[in-house]
Amino acid sequence: MQRLKAGLRKTGTGITTVFTGTRIDETLYEELEDALLMADTGVKATQHLLDDLRRRVKEAKATEPAAVKALLADALTDLLAPLEKPLVIGEHQPTVIMVAGVNGAGKTTSIGKLTRHLADHGQSVLLAAADTFRAAAREQLGVWATRNTVEIVSQEGGDPAAVSFDAVTAGKARGRDVVLVDTAGRLPTQLHLMQELSKIRRVITKADATAPHEVLLVIDGNTGQNALAQVRAFDDALSLTGLIVTKLDGTAKGGVLAAIAQERPVPVYFIGVGEQLQDLETFNAREFAQALLG
Ligand code: GDP
Repeated sequence: MQRLKAGLRKTGTGITTVFTGTRIDETLYEELEDALLMADTGVKATQHLLDDLRRRVKEAKATEPAAVKALLADALTDLLAPLEKPLVIGEHQPTVIMVAGVNGAGKTTSIGKLTRHLADHGQSVLLAAADTFRAAAREQLGVWATRNTVEIVSQEGGDPAAVSFDAVTAGKARGRDVVLVDTAGRLPTQLHLMQELSKIRRVITKADATAPHEVLLVIDGNTGQNALAQVRAFDDALSLTGLIVTKLDGTAKGGVLAAIAQERPVPVYFIGVGEQLQDLETFNAREFAQALLG
């Protein structure tokens, strides 16, 4: 929470300064609109928040700008609330989690952190290196496996779907609680990537008819509205069940979560707030709204 707060504050989207005036007038709403757009909230969510805020201000008969800030925090919390949902493990053994995301989003790091989080909660994890195109990706995942002392199913230059199949089969045979499947983040075209990921998804289901139980997308919190476009594209292709939003300790403005909540409310299971193993937090709508508003 502290790192999230520090990160979002550092970006200085100017929302806080909107409330330093003495009157609630159109200028305040205009400045707020600009500040929300600057914070990556996007046009639709900004409009929704402003409409909701005007209603709340009227209802509460607020007269001070400071009171408006508290009402905005409430409005933002309500908008973000559908994204607050825990990742539930234990209904299946193994729980098969497929993880997607464009290169650089923080996918491999997030898998490393998630492995630690699961281990801390008593779950045994098996990793699958299904990004067989990049040797570096496989090696990097291997480093996280060693760091967490968990097994990894990997195959040099192998077929990503075959690696996924083997990993799920091995996870079942060895009685593992969770199989985490790392997938490729870049292929020659987006069409190729989506076809590849859809194939992995289908083959996982062949290895276990109930799987995958979770399909996660890792997005970089710094990429603003582009992150929303990624959520749309991957959700259309793979039917996402959850998101991990990374790098919220850095220069990310955070407002994109409001845009996601408004347009494609896929639950945010975790947020990334650093590069180390423990820098993964569960998402809390109220805390996030408060951190965003400074
Ligand atoms: P991938 O290509 O999606 O697998 O991305 P990586 O996991 O290799 O991460 C790309 C870069 O982002 C690395 O330098 C990571 O250390 C960094 N990174 C990932 N998550 C976070 C985060 O939550 N905060 C910060 N500050 N850096 C992160």
